[in-house]
Amino acid sequence: MSIELSLETLIDGIRSGNKRLIAKAITLVESKKAEHREKAEQLLNAIMPLTGKSIRVGITGVPGAGKSTFIESFGQLAIKNGKRVAVLAIDPSSALNKGSILGDKTRMEDLAKEPNAFIRPSPSSGFLGGVANATFETMLICEAAGYDYILIETVGVGQSEVLVADISDVFLFLKIIGGGDELQGIKRGIMEMVDLIFINKVSEENLQQAKNTKLELMRALQFLPSKEKDWKVPVMLGSALYHEGLEKVYEKIDEFINLKKKTGRFETVRKLQAEKRFQYWVQAYILEQTKKNESLDEAFKTHQKNASELLANPSSEARDFVKKLLNS
Ligand code: GDP
Repeated sequence: MSIELSLETLIDGIRSGNKRLIAKAITLVESKKAEHREKAEQLLNAIMPLTGKSIRVGITGVPGAGKSTFIESFGQLAIKNGKRVAVLAIDPSSALNKGSILGDKTRMEDLAKEPNAFIRPSPSSGFLGGVANATFETMLICEAAGYDYILIETVGVGQSEVLVADISDVFLFLKIIGGGDELQGIKRGIMEMVDLIFINKVSEENLQQAKNTKLELMRALQFLPSKEKDWKVPVMLGSALYHEGLEKVYEKIDEFINLKKKTGRFETVRKLQAEKRFQYWVQAYILEQTKKNESLDEAFKTHQKNASELLANPSSEARDFVKKLLNS
């Protein structure tokens, strides 16, 4: 495979912003093969000093809320402001039944044509370290390549928001007009994770309804603990398709990031996120080593079976397995 390009070629390619080589480097970090992982880690270590400088924006909303339309418009706005934009996605459904929720439409065609934009679909969830780890590493590559904004889209189902919140600096919730899912958002804990809300598809005809939705959301937000001190989650109205209200979002993101930098939360949260990535990798590597060793693998399966059949409590089974692992 073309992953076999030398490390130097890939690193130089990333540094010079060569999209073809950036894509190859991403394919390398997404690879499941052990020898590729080693090379991927060498690559990531080499580019580490170039990373960390982007604004990492997580974007969620139910299918049809207008996420890709928003990213296309917002991306173009950022580019107009002299920035470079990378678009990534976390779609844990992508490995389940072939068609992923995010991947099965032609997306962001105009943005894709921009020299200052780079778009990468979600890695498959079969990746050793999980989709969030793969996306995190892809993000580092994009940062090293000089992208200023990393827009990470997610599907708004299951745990995908948590995965995105774990790797982003600011979390944007795209909402469509109408009641109902404010409550769902609260139930699913999304409202507690968001930093900004954008009510999309607002037009003259539905402006009053949009304002009502805004009030309902603001009421709901009042009852939630604030995620960032001194930050009141703004609820903005606009239209992704007609490029309305996006400047405001752009400004609010800047304002939020500046506030987090001032309070030290920016650094703190990024450190916590990196710790979490480390912990995920520890789990992934333990499981990988276990699979490689026949007797350990057998012990793992036996303990897991005991746990699943409730022959003993899962915690004791795990403890016994780890003892065997450490003694092996
Ligand atoms: P996603 O599934 O969340 O990515 O949603 P899409 O971006 O694919 O948008 C779903 C549909 O809503 C598409 O047909 C868009 O053209 C439409 N749409 C998105 N934003 C707006 C908007 O501001 N106004 C109107 N009227 N339609 C929009």
